[in-house]
Amino acid sequence: MTVIGFIGLGTMGGPMAANLVKAGYEVKGFDLVPAACYRAVEDGIKVTSSAVEAADGVDVLITMLPKGDHVRQALLVDNGPLSVLAPGAVVIDSSSIDVPTSRDLHERGVELGIDVLDAPVSGGLAGAQAGTLTFMIGGASEIVEKVRPLFQAMGSRTVLTGGPGSGQVAKAVNQMVFGSSLVALSEAFVIAERLGVSPQNLFDVLSTSSGDCWALHNFCPLPGLVEGSAADNNYAPKFAAALLSKDLGLAATAADSAGVELVVGRGAKDKLDELSINDGHLDASAVITKVGLKLAAAASGPI
Ligand code: NAD
Repeated sequence: MTVIGFIGLGTMGGPMAANLVKAGYEVKGFDLVPAACYRAVEDGIKVTSSAVEAADGVDVLITMLPKGDHVRQALLVDNGPLSVLAPGAVVIDSSSIDVPTSRDLHERGVELGIDVLDAPVSGGLAGAQAGTLTFMIGGASEIVEKVRPLFQAMGSRTVLTGGPGSGQVAKAVNQMVFGSSLVALSEAFVIAERLGVSPQNLFDVLSTSSGDCWALHNFCPLPGLVEGSAADNNYAPKFAAALLSKDLGLAATAADSAGVELVVGRGAKDKLDELSINDGHLDASAVITKVGLKLAAAASGPI
């Protein structure tokens, strides 16, 4: 039986690990935060007292950590979790991180005889809970086949994007498109309202015209237009602004290294960064407040 180690049992990692338990796997897990560990115990994960202990003797080690720095601190250290993996073990890093850190992890794997995949996800908390995440995977196809049942337990779709780090590239640019859509929608609603077009009328036009997009239906920045939107719930986070701000930073770095001038994406990044200075905990759709909407006005409807 495949034994799995799981480091990072937070918003996404917790339910992903729980789905592996539901699929019948033995999962050893570790997180720095006690509350995450308590939840994991309730979900049937065997919580350990260190990352090294979680990795000891496992066939597959999965990480779901916030940023590249966390992945470096957790994995790319002497006598860390990688040092207790047997050659042939597989490491799947599902964190959304910078490409250089991801490539360093792949290189360390080659040195140690460990197979590494970068496999960031799309689908959010709902997808993590329902086991319907999309994995974008960088690494060798034969390794993906070796661990495919694990991806199937946590998600409903895998896209092999290419070699080491390519999953992170795909994730970063996907987030750039999402963030840019969100800021463009915010600008559209504010411009329209100020020039006499109501939010509902603009929504009716956008949703049936060439301006329609995923962000409009899932992260509509104004309340009262899409049932269950974060805007309807005072911008309680479905996807926190701070995370999208981080992702847009990763996209900007990727664009720099690819020699691409980022016009739209950088504008979106600036707005998300501005929101994140004091309100990074709010939903990313609250970025409309940095385009011109006052939050109090958002609660009462018109801009
Ligand atoms: P989170 O902050 O809720 O969880 C991360 C967990 O990692 C925390 O519980 C933290 O304590 C733990 N951690 C940090 N350093 C650690 C260490 N050295 N050892 C053990 N545990 C450690 O974040 P999240 O929302 O679960 O996101 C994780 C990753 O997934 C991020 O890169 C994020 O961008 C990406 N992501 C998030 C979402 C989302 O909707 N939340 C969607 C897609 C992708």
